[in-house]
Amino acid sequence: MNFDFTERQEAFRKEVRAWLELTLPDDLRGKAFASSRADRDEVARLRAWQKTMHEAGYVGMDWPKEFGGRGAPITEMVILYQEMARAESPQLVNRGGVSILGPTLMKYGTPAQQQRFLPRILPADELWCQGFSEPNAGSDLANLQTRAVLEGDHFVVNGQKVWTSMGHVAEWCFLLVRTDPSAAKHKGISFLLVDMKTPGITIRPLRQITGEAEFNEVFYDNVRVPKENLVGKVNEGWSVAIGALAYERDLLTFIRHISLKNALHRLVKLGRERGRFDDPIFRQKIAGLWIGEQALALNGYRSLTNILRGGAPGPEGSTSKLFWSHLDQELAATASEVLGQYSQIKHGSAWAVDDGQWEFYELLVRASGIRAGTTEILKNILGERVLGLPKD
Ligand SMILES: Cc1cc2nc3c(=O)[nH]c(=O)nc-3n(C[C@H](O)[C@H](O)[C@H](O)COP(=O)(O)OP(=O)(O)OC[C@H]3O[C@@H](n4cnc5c(N)ncnc54)[C@H](O)[C@@H]3O)c2cc1C
Repeated sequence: MNFDFTERQEAFRKEVRAWLELTLPDDLRGKAFASSRADRDEVARLRAWQKTMHEAGYVGMDWPKEFGGRGAPITEMVILYQEMARAESPQLVNRGGVSILGPTLMKYGTPAQQQRFLPRILPADELWCQGFSEPNAGSDLANLQTRAVLEGDHFVVNGQKVWTSMGHVAEWCFLLVRTDPSAAKHKGISFLLVDMKTPGITIRPLRQITGEAEFNEVFYDNVRVPKENLVGKVNEGWSVAIGALAYERDLLTFIRHISLKNALHRLVKLGRERGRFDDPIFRQKIAGLWIGEQALALNGYRSLTNILRGGAPGPEGSTSKLFWSHLDQELAATASEVLGQYSQIKHGSAWAVDDGQWEFYELLVRASGIRAGTTEILKNILGERVLGLPKD
């Protein structure tokens, strides 16, 4: 692994740093680590920001030009993410589209699907949500029961999904359905692209511990999905889904690193303002978090090296996701300790620190060990499949 960036890459860093300094709206700067994706106005502002970034050529930088990307080396994309963290920019609002569905469609989609869907992902013209989990299919995703039956030119979908993040604001959903109930669990599943405005879809928001409703229950009642919206082959959607989940763990952890770094910088600032650096225990905690953040970045570089050498997302994604969730939770707990009772004051109060982001963050991090693979499941994957430990 070579840690040095080339002259060209450093020149790109300068360019993007200057652009972010000039262009990032003040009301989005520094509110990145605990921003809401539930509030429609906030989502609209984040959409506009993604569009601005896209027009400047900074979204999907590694995507081929024919799909609206820049065809840039992935290293430049990583530099961009580093600079977004430095500028305290929010993450891309359409990250499910950019980092999960996009790469999946490039690998498994038909040329017609690629042409229809990919160019609208980058400017956030179409937001995507992920319809995988069900009430009895979370960690055990292959247990999913939502049915799709092919009738003429359409699949007719019936069933229920749950925890669909941004389902209430997304235009499209990538959905896992069972197309052959008689086949073994992992077989008989298909991957569909569904227009969220199709008749028969009912979306019910679920209020979370943070007080907002960023995710939803989504009911599908005789929803007709054109046959050409099938990705991959019928009944072979499991491998498409596994590919998508690997991108989620790998690339998204890279992206999540942005908000972690933002929060860490803010915490250091908070510690300084409150004179906490005289306390050796606090210093030690900050040092631990700083080292963790660096380790996460280096593990990201490891994935990157692998991808640059032509490999696919590997187990590094699972280690990063697991490690990131611990760091995220430790960071939030340390911030709450620093703030004491102020850590409980919500956005909207004159007493709320950093506009109430810390209160939101402390509650939000409960989910870090659940979404995109729970801590226990990731430990199982790493223990059994990567290290070869006995199941018992
Ligand atoms: C903030 C947030 C956003 C989400 N967004 C989406 C989304 O957009 N789309 C989507 O499809 N899903 C989404 N999810 C759902 C998420 O993928 C699931 O919550 C996750 O896969 C766990 O499934 P579950 O909630 O059904 O829990 P379960 O699978 O029922 O697990 C319950 C507990 O049992 C443990 N457990 C389960 N099986 C094992 C085992 N074999 N060994 C050891 N322990 C085990 C788990 O670790 C967990 O602690 C989101 C979740 C959260 C929290």
